[in-house]
Amino acid sequence: MGLKSRRVLAAVIALNGAIIVAEVAFSKISGSVALLSDALHNTGDMSALLLAMAAATVAERRASWKKTFGYRRAEVIAAELNSLLIMGLAFYIVYESVDRLIHPSQVNGTIVMAVAAIAFAANLLSATLLRRGAKENINQRGAYLHMLADAGTSFAVLFGGFFTRIFGLYEIDPLVGLFVSAVIFYGGYGLLKDSLHILMEGAPEVDVERIRRKVLQVKGVWDIHTIRCWKVSDEDTYFTGHLVVDPCPLEEAAALRREVERVIKAEGINNVTLQVEIPGEELSCGEGNVL
Ligand SMILES: [Zn+2]
Repeated sequence: MGLKSRRVLAAVIALNGAIIVAEVAFSKISGSVALLSDALHNTGDMSALLLAMAAATVAERRASWKKTFGYRRAEVIAAELNSLLIMGLAFYIVYESVDRLIHPSQVNGTIVMAVAAIAFAANLLSATLLRRGAKENINQRGAYLHMLADAGTSFAVLFGGFFTRIFGLYEIDPLVGLFVSAVIFYGGYGLLKDSLHILMEGAPEVDVERIRRKVLQVKGVWDIHTIRCWKVSDEDTYFTGHLVVDPCPLEEAAALRREVERVIKAEGINNVTLQVEIPGEELSCGEGNVL
């Protein structure tokens, strides 16, 4: 992560921190659980941003003889932890909202509207700042999507405040709180699923079967087996396999291997390792559990 994205993140974190403090304080003053839910939603974003920053710093540490991949998985683990954290917060809001639905209490709609309007503007500003880094990195994308969802939930809180003020229906406020927690669950689940996929060594967004077909089309290739395709982080994709070629001089086999590597990299993999074998050798490669 470059200095510029770090500065953007620091600015967004400061902005978010101010909003959280304001929302928590005014949720007490106005008696609004919706404002509190928005504050907790913002806290989820804030921890996403802090974790993204910390993980990006850790991820830059060099590989060692004990950690040959370096620390690039740190960002994925951060995303995983954060998804669990924000879903935990959502449970708390559900509890509070249901409690208010059962025992309605007074809510000051005017304060709710004013604070939610400021939060809405700040979230839109944060989303705009984060949008550029969102394409390359799982945590920054997470943060960007959070900000967008946040602007949406702040708007819902604003809307709820408006109706509370007009109709004096205090049940609207906890209903908005439930809506916000549904949004938090939805976002948290997506992040949990994506990070678990990487931690389970799931294949990247490439068609492994198609890669295999392309490799088999290369002249001189007999077979490719023991294929493994995975991601270390959102940016690093790996492919390993055993390449069976016609028996030939080593120079020719090396040229053929380079050609196959080029074919695989063209499909969106950035680290390719191939073991060259001659026909018949694959008989002793069967581990049963691999492609
Ligand atoms: Zn083999």
